[in-house]
Amino acid sequence: MDLTPTTRTQELSRELSDFITSRVDPASAVYRAQVDASGDPHFHPPVMEELKAEARARGLWNLFLPDPDLGAGLTNVEYAPLCELTGRSPLAPEATNCSAPDTGNMELLAQFASPLQREQYLRPLLDGEIRSCFAMTEPWVASSDATNIASRITPDGDSYVIDAHKWWTTGAASERCTFAIVMGVSDPAADPHRRHSMVIVPLDTPGVTNVRTLPVLGHDAGGGHCELLFERVRVPKENLLGGEGEGFALAQARLGPGRIHHCMRAIGMAEHALALLCMRAQQRVAFGKHLADQGVIQTWVAESRIEIEQARLLTMKAAWLMDTVGVRGARFEISAIKVIAARLAGTVIDRAIQVFGAAGLSDDWPLAEMYPQARMLRFADGPDEVHLQQIARRELRLYESFRV
Ligand SMILES: Cc1cc2nc3c(=O)[nH]c(=O)nc-3n(C[C@H](O)[C@H](O)[C@H](O)COP(=O)(O)OP(=O)(O)OC[C@H]3O[C@@H](n4cnc5c(N)ncnc54)[C@H](O)[C@@H]3O)c2cc1C
Repeated sequence: MDLTPTTRTQELSRELSDFITSRVDPASAVYRAQVDASGDPHFHPPVMEELKAEARARGLWNLFLPDPDLGAGLTNVEYAPLCELTGRSPLAPEATNCSAPDTGNMELLAQFASPLQREQYLRPLLDGEIRSCFAMTEPWVASSDATNIASRITPDGDSYVIDAHKWWTTGAASERCTFAIVMGVSDPAADPHRRHSMVIVPLDTPGVTNVRTLPVLGHDAGGGHCELLFERVRVPKENLLGGEGEGFALAQARLGPGRIHHCMRAIGMAEHALALLCMRAQQRVAFGKHLADQGVIQTWVAESRIEIEQARLLTMKAAWLMDTVGVRGARFEISAIKVIAARLAGTVIDRAIQVFGAAGLSDDWPLAEMYPQARMLRFADGPDEVHLQQIARRELRLYESFRV
């Protein structure tokens, strides 16, 4: 395995670190003030557009896209450490046009969109002019099993008619979010893995209703997670993404690189939480000792460091395998990192909150905002248990001959 940073990634890494510390971090208070002043938790504050313009001018734009005609042209091994840096700041992913769910949607569109779809939807996303959402999960079926998705995408002449009830559609409450990629059943008689299709639905199409936003552990911000109704929504057949019956395959294709991104950002969050923990432990004195001199705190610091290093190495291995043998060859590692990176971030943030005392739960420090992020990662793109099941099945298959 060769994980040596290239000259280009070293340069990008220096530029990105400087951008985050000198521009993005100081802008976070302005961002919050502008959102608060608007009275809308999903308001898009002007300071974000300033950050985006600067990121683009510095060459820190669309770093996640491996196609050099569309993005930075980096491999997964090259992009992963940069993605980790952006995970340290809640604003950096959007400022560099590298934030979910747009990244997954841009990857899908880059692979499967028709020339017209590329012009209408991919190009403005690449330019950061609009945002998008991905509507797969449904309230009435266990959506961790994609074959359960029950919404209907019915062919009707030269249109599709969509009847869908979706929820947890991230980003749909932002006024800049203009379209959803919707998954539903287009041929109920087909094999379960060939039953679904994906269509692009502009959110201003008649019949689309945003019912509500769902807070995550009480937090509702930045575009929200929405419950959406699609009632007799009609879109032209040109809005089909890929082929009819390819919805399941597209859903799988969307997840590979996205998981590396989620995991590296989670590791970045864990690094940030550990740095805060250590600073606080060096400052606070209780019972005549700095917290940093208490054995239990030292154990938390050491375990956090070990766990971060483990998770990073495994994620880099997954990135390297994706670059060298492809997503199929990296399936075990992709499942494994999805489980450990989210757990790691939750554990380290939780330790940091504990070291901060009650202040850790307040909005004075970023830990209380980071914690729900880490917790939700144990569901987003599939719950831990589904990944654990896949890993266990693979392992147990090796010993099938022992079965009596
Ligand atoms: C903050 C947030 C943002 C999200 N954003 C999006 C989005 O933008 N678009 C979108 O479509 N979805 C989104 N989701 C939804 C997410 O992808 C789903 O919640 C996830 O796939 C699980 O589906 P479910 O909630 O229906 O849980 P279910 O499928 O009902 O599963 C519930 C539980 O059952 C157990 N379980 C399931 N399968 C197994 C198994 N094989 N073995 C053992 N136990 C099992 C697990 O404990 C699991 O947590 C988001 C979720 C959150 C929390």
